[in-house]
Amino acid sequence: MNHLWQERLRWDRDHLWHPYTSTIDPLEVYPVVSAKGATITLADGTELTDGMSSWWAAIHGYSHPVLVQALQGQAETLSHIMFGGLTHEPAVELGKLLCESVLPKGVDTIFYADSGSVAVEVAMKMALQYQHAKGERQRTRFAALSSAYHGDTWHAMSVCDPITGMHGLFAGALTPQYFLPQPSIPFGGVWSEEAMRPLQNLLEEKGEEIAALILEPIVQGAGGMYFYHPEYLRQARRLCSHFGVLLIFDEIATGFGRTGEMLAAYHADVLPDIICIGKALTGGCMTLSATATTKEIADIICSGEAGCFMHGPTFMANPLACSVALASTRLLLSKPWRKRVKEIEQTLRSELSSLADLSTVKEVRCLGAIGVVEMKQPVDMKRLIPQFIEEKIWVRPFGRLVYLMPPFMAVTDEELFKLTSGLSKIVKQNAVQR
Ligand SMILES: *Cc1c(COP(=O)(O)O)cnc(C)c1O
Repeated sequence: MNHLWQERLRWDRDHLWHPYTSTIDPLEVYPVVSAKGATITLADGTELTDGMSSWWAAIHGYSHPVLVQALQGQAETLSHIMFGGLTHEPAVELGKLLCESVLPKGVDTIFYADSGSVAVEVAMKMALQYQHAKGERQRTRFAALSSAYHGDTWHAMSVCDPITGMHGLFAGALTPQYFLPQPSIPFGGVWSEEAMRPLQNLLEEKGEEIAALILEPIVQGAGGMYFYHPEYLRQARRLCSHFGVLLIFDEIATGFGRTGEMLAAYHADVLPDIICIGKALTGGCMTLSATATTKEIADIICSGEAGCFMHGPTFMANPLACSVALASTRLLLSKPWRKRVKEIEQTLRSELSSLADLSTVKEVRCLGAIGVVEMKQPVDMKRLIPQFIEEKIWVRPFGRLVYLMPPFMAVTDEELFKLTSGLSKIVKQNAVQR
């Protein structure tokens, strides 16, 4: 590492906050100088194969020429313009493509927002304004699942798992919501109606207070990397409709092919009332999210007291972000993404499954381009990450989870084997040391 970088890293350590990191005892950060395809290049020249897709986002890998060109071209004509009273080609064309090829039929009224968390805030505000306009003013609470993750802003945080979301710490300030147990039947498990009992009971007892149920369909991400049975979504749809509760699907992590379907909702063929997308929307190039609902719900919201939906971010529908999102989504649709995700799922399964035999491992599960090794004990990130770097792979475990979610449209078979064998080696090595 040269002097310039040593100095920068010291400054970073003293002045910059990283996600969920202590200023007293921060984890080491590694300086990245460039990234291309599935390869991340560090300042000392080390090349790492990316197993994280920058948190679900970089589905085409990094510096994809089509995405770079979209950004450059757009920067030259219109980098940004306010969306109040004005519109532009990238916003309209992206919206059309999302309606045609990503969102379910009917969920076709789109609100562009800045980030995933904001998309969740927007969805929750939509639900509240909808209930208000319908004269259901007492419906001010939300139902969510244990182990859920919906973002870090205030109300998004209120529907995150109470323990991992530290509701105790924010007690009194955070709106208390209703939490259901994690859906008990895993993806691929044998369905039992018993799994719906907690939701049925909650809605029977408190349904009148609840504006919406929010959940991550099929895959619970940052809250536990758990995959559950699609029937849960079909039954949740039925119960929500019956009790006048809106159903919000947070597809921010699962959207754009990651689970083997364009949206995870398609595993269940269920129509939610509101959908949030983000992360891979721009192919991981910029922050952009969207919250979509039906025209009927949108019109009810706007028939209420306010006469409009009460939200409007400064950078709403940013043309650079919309333009790269359009390019990324077109690129995905032009490729055999479904076949590729299936192949990756098979490789992850065949290469990682045997880790389940280790005494330190609780379970191995794979779905789409996601491979999860759940340990029995929390992993020591400080010790493990340098070991992954040693293997020339970028893997960032959390809690008891060591997992891979590679940039599925960029990663080659060879790179995928490097990820699975590197991860396996480190998991085994640490099993011996304990
Ligand atoms: C990442 C994530 C969010 C929050 O998105 P940000 O862009 O980080 O604000 C919300 N919901 C889910 C399911 C996510 O995975």
